[in-house]
Amino acid sequence: MSFSRTRLILGLQPRLVFAARAGPALAARRLISTSPCTGAQHHHHHKEPLETLTSKIDERQAHGAHLLPAETDAAGNTLNSYRHGPSALDKAVHLFFFTEIIRGMWIVLENFFRPPYTIMYPFEKGPLSPRFRGEHALRRYPSGEERCIACKLCEAICPAQAITIESEARQDGSRKTTKYDIDMTKCIYCGFCQEACPVDAIVETQNQEFSVENREELLYNKEKLLANGDRAEAEIAANLHSDHVYR
Ligand code: SF4
Ligand code: SF4
Repeated sequence: MSFSRTRLILGLQPRLVFAARAGPALAARRLISTSPCTGAQHHHHHKEPLETLTSKIDERQAHGAHLLPAETDAAGNTLNSYRHGPSALDKAVHLFFFTEIIRGMWIVLENFFRPPYTIMYPFEKGPLSPRFRGEHALRRYPSGEERCIACKLCEAICPAQAITIESEARQDGSRKTTKYDIDMTKCIYCGFCQEACPVDAIVETQNQEFSVENREELLYNKEKLLANGDRAEAEIAANLHSDHVYR
């Protein structure tokens, strides 16, 4: 039996016949791109006025979907409620050519050649924003002098009341802290202390790996904070510089 006769008997549409001749792979590709619209696309193409939709929803809630009157056209003929969906022939062709399997395998093939989304943490690390708010540190000037001037703005603004500062005046008249504690178990890493500080003394570093084995180790004192600052000063200064145009 010739192909055109088969085509007549099966009643295939011209586009499907073309797809069948071009081979299953092309058929799948063509069917994917020309399948009748569904879901969001369907609603986009066949918009109904909002009042109509609202009244339909009310009607459904009041009587149940099965009691809805059938839709009719202008001449009063009953319309097929499935008329916007795929035809039986389209569904049959999808089944016949295993297009869903081919589409699924295509996605697998695409992802096989993509770089993986996962990284081998902790050996590989993802990028961090210069504004990342991690472990706290107190900074010094290049001379070694502490930046903090004991103004207590950070203590006042901290919403978690995690910062405790005590200060005294030095012989030269400057004020310096004698105690600077942060209870890291209270801290919510909001960054307000860093924003409030007029001399960039208290900062949040990009270190996020400071898990400990007991609660006491999260009660940071001034020595611990200054040590953090000494260790990460280059990184802190670079991050502050890269962000300074936005401040
Ligand atoms: S990050 Fe927020 S909660 Fe934590 S110490 Fe600073 S101001 Fe307080
Ligand atoms: S860290 Fe900054 S805001 Fe806090 S007391 Fe020192 S100078 Fe003031």
